[in-house]
Amino acid sequence: MTVAATPKKAPAKEVEKDASMVKQKEMMAAHYERLTSASETGAKVCNTFVPGNLNELIMCFDLVNNLPEVNAIQSGLRRQSGAYVLEAEKIGHSEDVCTYVKSDIGMMAKGNIGPNGKRMPDPDILLLSYTGCFTFMKWFELLREQYKCETIMLHTPYMGDGKITPNMTQYLVKQLKEEVIPTLERVSGVKFDIDRLRENLKKSVKAEDDLVKVLQSAKNKPSPIDAYFGGIYYIGPMFGAFRGTDDAIEYYKFLRAEIEERVAKGLGPVTPDGEMGKEKYRLVTEGPPNYTNFRQFWKMFYDEGAVVVASSYTKVGGVYDLGFRHDPDKPLETLAEYCLGVYTNRNLPMRIDMLSNYIKEYEADGLLINSIKSCNSFSAGQLLMMREVEKRTGKPAAFVESDLVDPRYFSAANIKNRLESYLQMIEQKRASARAAA
Ligand code: SF4
Repeated sequence: MTVAATPKKAPAKEVEKDASMVKQKEMMAAHYERLTSASETGAKVCNTFVPGNLNELIMCFDLVNNLPEVNAIQSGLRRQSGAYVLEAEKIGHSEDVCTYVKSDIGMMAKGNIGPNGKRMPDPDILLLSYTGCFTFMKWFELLREQYKCETIMLHTPYMGDGKITPNMTQYLVKQLKEEVIPTLERVSGVKFDIDRLRENLKKSVKAEDDLVKVLQSAKNKPSPIDAYFGGIYYIGPMFGAFRGTDDAIEYYKFLRAEIEERVAKGLGPVTPDGEMGKEKYRLVTEGPPNYTNFRQFWKMFYDEGAVVVASSYTKVGGVYDLGFRHDPDKPLETLAEYCLGVYTNRNLPMRIDMLSNYIKEYEADGLLINSIKSCNSFSAGQLLMMREVEKRTGKPAAFVESDLVDPRYFSAANIKNRLESYLQMIEQKRASARAAA
């Protein structure tokens, strides 16, 4: 029997990265090393979620922050999440469950190996800041069953009326004082020091200021950044384990300088294939991206000269561009206000206002919604939001569908078709506006 020689594959094209992306990757790698070496170093681990994460507080107890959503994203980008999702479904989790949860559960079932190829640590504590998504609670109930560790469920009231009242803030502060801090002290064995929290919060503010400058640089024409696909790299340290650290200050200072240089030179965004080329369309996006085909998804945009100038997704870990900053002078109140204000905790009218304003302020051509099959927190009401934003701005909106980390729900041909038809619609609108002028 003869066996045909496997044809030699052409080497995969290197992804182009700007210096800040390289720096960010190094920070993430160091963080995963901290996590996976926890059993040797004796570090204790706190699992928590991105929206409403209390990193400045967690660090006061020398705990290392582990974010299951970020682990699921890493599994998606590495094309491992598909197998994890199937594993979780085999155990009995329904097809409709958020695929971040199923990726996490499946990863645990298959040995809990992290992105650096080493075993992820068991958590010493689960800290839930319940911010606008009921799934978070169910997710930690499952982890609690698995790890039998202490669990804190910080209840964040939903911003149903579109505002934060003093009662809401005080309700959260009370929980912080009476439940969260005493439990963190007990589990970590470290006494709470409010001055340490203030110091961490001061560091957060510096990094937050620079992140906002980076996000708002997209008001330039051409935009020097892609605020959705590129934006995901930019928010990584802030929304993850670095807010409140010197590393974050340094990263955002560096990133801001890099972007300001691009503005000065009149450059557009860097894509995985290099410089984007001529900016033809400016879009605002709503909803998370797809991670299993992230690069392919992004390419569909930059191949057409479409750049995202603002996105709601890059606000899930804090809406800093609308003015919020952590306030070291009110350390507990500011943590409460942060949890209350994140995007997923905002009601539909607030989300509509935000998207409509982005279209005006960033002089965008329209709104594109990526509706995520398994994320109710984002998807509920998106059709209504789309119609309302169209009505208010007079700009066209469109809808594509995919999933977070389940590769079965990424249909490249469908998404490409819809995106191309949408961009044609923008062209037609431009032509009629010219004719009417
Ligand atoms: S917000 Fe969406 S993606 Fe995040 S946990 Fe909830 S359902 Fe899952």
